Amino acid sequence: MTDDHAAGGPGPALAAPVLAGRRVLLLDRARIYVCGITPYDVTHLGHAATFVWVDALGRVLRLLGVEPEVCRNVTDVDDVLDEAASRARARYDSFAAIQQYHFEHDLAALNVRPVRHEPRAHRYVTHVIRLARGLMTAGTAYERNGSIYFRGQAAAIQAGLGRAEALRLSAEYGGRLDDASKDDPLDAAVWQAAEAGHPAWESPWGLGRPGWHAECVAMAMSAFGVGVDVHAGGNDLRFPHHAYHSAMAEAFTGVRPYARAWVHVGTVTVDGVKMAKSAGNLVLVSDLLNRYPAAAVRLVILDRRWAEDWDYTDASLEAAAARLADLYGAAGRAAPAGEAAAGEIRRLLATDLDVPAALEVAIGEGGAAARLLIAALGLD
Ligand SMILES: [Zn+2]
Repeated sequence: MTDDHAAGGPGPALAAPVLAGRRVLLLDRARIYVCGITPYDVTHLGHAATFVWVDALGRVLRLLGVEPEVCRNVTDVDDVLDEAASRARARYDSFAAIQQYHFEHDLAALNVRPVRHEPRAHRYVTHVIRLARGLMTAGTAYERNGSIYFRGQAAAIQAGLGRAEALRLSAEYGGRLDDASKDDPLDAAVWQAAEAGHPAWESPWGLGRPGWHAECVAMAMSAFGVGVDVHAGGNDLRFPHHAYHSAMAEAFTGVRPYARAWVHVGTVTVDGVKMAKSAGNLVLVSDLLNRYPAAAVRLVILDRRWAEDWDYTDASLEAAAARLADLYGAAGRAAPAGEAAAGEIRRLLATDLDVPAALEVAIGEGGAAARLLIAALGLD
């Protein structure tokens, strides 16, 4: 590892961050796809954690001399969104646009940089139709009663899940196990035949709408081609969403693996319960930003390993604010040039974004090393 990131020797250093325990060699840019929001509700800390981590990843890559090209989609064609829009007596697309505005406002307040691509699902209907046709040609999808289903059993096996667990998770994430048109309850709609209360578009199989996993496949492929360097999202998207995404993309392109690395950001809980509107335990980003500086909210997310699940408390945010004050204090201290400390911070950040260890070095060393970390993590 040390030879990769050391400044020594002529010419550019190798950019080889470790992500999810695997070294990812990069040249001059990184294609990063992150599953974005379904814009039907306010931004809570659980959503924000994923996007702040992806933003931090992009900043660390830039520190290594690699340009991050982030695609963060907006899932504005979605069954839950349709229900929320209908309760608000709004069209799905105008309702989504308003929620998206609030979301982007919250992310900007958290110092999350604008992304390169921000596709909205409703613009990719023709792509999904083409994807469906390709999957049928590849023999991994079939038509029943105006819907196109992707055969899901292989995705479950690939994910290392037993059938019972795969079925349980599919049911939890909108998998419609009771749809009698499917050959197997694990099959997932690439294209869903039209139903009342949902938008519908023309297709070779009649009116219908794209399926959730297929929307992300279409948007990722449209932005980046056959694959990505990093695919990120909340840990709860691991199955079925990400498993089906990669299975569909690989079936369509024949290129494996679809993603070189997966960043599954840990779940945020409150009193041990996953944050969700239905649980009534949402911690809203806008509320936190009224009480604390944005950098402290960023740091409560980042001062841990990205994969770990964690429990939010006001005390954890107080602790992050105190740690931030320590870091700012260290940055203002006169300290030697600290080349070695700066190199160590770069190495720690390139090693699966080890922020807690990098913070220890920065606070201990002070001066330029602390300022480097503040800039690298967007805490300024
Ligand atoms: Zn997705």
